[in-house]
Amino acid sequence: MSIPRPIVDEIRSRTDLVQVIGQTVTLKRQGRSWVGVCPFHNDRKPSFHVVPDKGIFHCFPCGASGDVFAFLMRAKGLSFVEAVKELAGPAGIPIEERELSPQERQRIAVKQDLYGVVEEACAFYHNLLMTSPEGEPGRAYLAQRGISTETALAYKLGYAPPGWDTLAGNLQRKRIPAALAIQAGVLKRSERTGGAYDVFRNRLVFPVLDDRSRPVAFGGRLLPGKDDGPKYLNSPESPVYDKSRTLYGLSWGRTAIQRTGRVILVEGYFDAVSLWQAGFHEAVATCGTALTPEHAEQIRRMARTAIALFDGDEAGLRAATRSMGLFLDAGVEARRLELGDCKDPDEFVQKHGAAAFEALLAKSEPLVELVIRRAIEGEGASAQGRARALANVAPVLRRLPDVVRGQMVTRAAGLMGLHEEQVLVALREAPVPAPNASSSRDATPARAETATRWVPTRELTHLLWLLVHHTAATAPELAGADPDDISDRRDVLAAIVRLGEGARVADVAADADPDIARALMAVAAREDLYTPEQAPAAMGAIVARMALPRVEQRVHALTRAIETADPNADPQAWARLTREVAEVHARRRELLARSARRQR
Ligand SMILES: [Zn+2]
Repeated sequence: MSIPRPIVDEIRSRTDLVQVIGQTVTLKRQGRSWVGVCPFHNDRKPSFHVVPDKGIFHCFPCGASGDVFAFLMRAKGLSFVEAVKELAGPAGIPIEERELSPQERQRIAVKQDLYGVVEEACAFYHNLLMTSPEGEPGRAYLAQRGISTETALAYKLGYAPPGWDTLAGNLQRKRIPAALAIQAGVLKRSERTGGAYDVFRNRLVFPVLDDRSRPVAFGGRLLPGKDDGPKYLNSPESPVYDKSRTLYGLSWGRTAIQRTGRVILVEGYFDAVSLWQAGFHEAVATCGTALTPEHAEQIRRMARTAIALFDGDEAGLRAATRSMGLFLDAGVEARRLELGDCKDPDEFVQKHGAAAFEALLAKSEPLVELVIRRAIEGEGASAQGRARALANVAPVLRRLPDVVRGQMVTRAAGLMGLHEEQVLVALREAPVPAPNASSSRDATPARAETATRWVPTRELTHLLWLLVHHTAATAPELAGADPDDISDRRDVLAAIVRLGEGARVADVAADADPDIARALMAVAAREDLYTPEQAPAAMGAIVARMALPRVEQRVHALTRAIETADPNADPQAWARLTREVAEVHARRRELLARSARRQR
C-alpha cells in the first residue's frame, strides 16, 4: 500500500523526533539540537545529532541521516510504510486502509492464525527445554555443545521430545485446528491414519524469527544417538515463512550489524548462536538455502561488508562465485573467511575463543581473490590456457567497483603471468552483465558508496545551509541568480526552489535522491556557519562566487576575440566587441566585489 504524501508529512510534523530517537539513543541537549552516540556506527563520541526543528537526525562520521521514518527503518528494520504506520497512532492520524477484498481479508486472517500457531509451538518447545524434567536430553545436548542457559533463553531455543503427538496434543488442548498447524509446518498429516503428528521429534529446535521478531518457522537438530530422520530438519515455507527472504539471527543482530557495518554469514544455526554467545552478534545464517538476491539486498541495507565462509571444494567454489555475483549486484563488499583446522565457526570459537576469531575476521580475504584464482586455475600455462583464463576473469573484473578493480587487475595479471595492459584490454572488451533486477530498486548510502557519489561543492553547501537556516533572509538573494551557475542537476535546483519557498528540509529530503538528501541533512545538522546578521550578505557573496567562473570564461573569450579582430575591417563589429568587453569587465568587478564581502 502507499500512504498519501500529505498524510506522511502530517505524521512527521506531529511526531516528537527527540522522543522517538530517545528510546534508542541517550540524547543530551546541546543548543538547538540534541546529541548522542550514533547507533549506526562504532563510536564512543557523541557525533549523532538530532535537530528537532528541522525534523532530522544526522551523524557526521558515518553519514547516517534522515527523518524520523528513516530512523525507524534503520533502527528497527521496518519498511517505510511500517515506519509511517508505527507513528500514525501516536500522532493521532488514522491511516485509512484501502477496503480489502474478502480474499485479502481471508489471507490476512490466515496469516494471523499461522503466527499464533508457530508462537504457541515455540513457547511449548522452549518451556520443555528450559523448565520441564522431560527437557533433560535437550539440556544435556546444549551443555555438550557449549551453549549457555542465557543464550538458550535469548534465542528461545526449544526441545522437541520423542513422542509423535506431544505438540499435536498440546495444540489440540488449545483448540488449534490441526489443518492450521499442518500449514504452519509443525504437524504433518499421516497417510496411514489420517491424523496429524509432530514434525519435530528428538530434536533441539531453533525458532526462526521474521523481520518483526515473530517466530515463523523452526530448524531442528537431531539429538546425538537418535535415529529419527535427517540430522537437520527445516520447516517448509508457508504464508508467513519465505526462506529466500529470511536470515537466521537477524532479529538479534540488527543493531550490531549496523554498528560494525559487517555481516558474518555462516551456514548453520549452531554457528550463528555460538558466535552470538562469543560476542559476535552480527552473525546470520541462511535457513537451509543458498544465498538469494533478496538476502544480499537485506544485507546491503544494513552493512557494507559481508564476511562469508566458503569451502575450498568444487561446490564451495561454485557457491562463492555465485554469491560474489549477488554481492556485487547489491553493492556489498564480500570477503572470505578461512577457518584453518576447524570445520565451522562454532567449533572454531568454542576451541580458540573470541579473540582468535576476531583476528581471523581481520585476515579475511576479498572473495574476488578466490574467484579470480579459481577462474585461472586449471586452464594451464599455455597461450590458449591463459587466453581462456583471461576470458573467464575479465567479466568478473569488469563488475568490480572502481576502488578495487585496479588492485585486482594487478593481482589477476600476476596470477596469469600477463601484463596488466593485456588484462585491461580484455576487460574493456568483456560483456557487461545485466545487474540483478532485485538489487537496483533504490539507492541508499551503503550502495551509493560503490558508485560515484555526488557531493555538493563548498559554495553549494553554504548556499544550502543559508537557505535551510535563514530562509526568509537569504531566499531573495537567489532571485537574480542564473540556475546554471548554481548546479547542473535539475533535482538539486528543484530542492533549492522548494527550500526557498519555505518547505521543511525533512520534506524536501524525503523526495530527493539519496545523495541530495544526505547533503541536506548534513547542512541542517550544522549550526555554526553564519550568524543571522551575516546571512543575507553571505548568500549574496556565494551567488556572486558561483557566477564568477562563467564570467571569467567570457572575459577570456572576448579578450582573444579582440586580439585577433581588425578594427578597420568592420568598425561596427569592433565597437560592439569593445562595448561587450567593457560590460563583462564591469560585471566581473561587481561580482568580485560582492563575493569578497564577508567570507568565511
Ligand atoms: Zn554514525
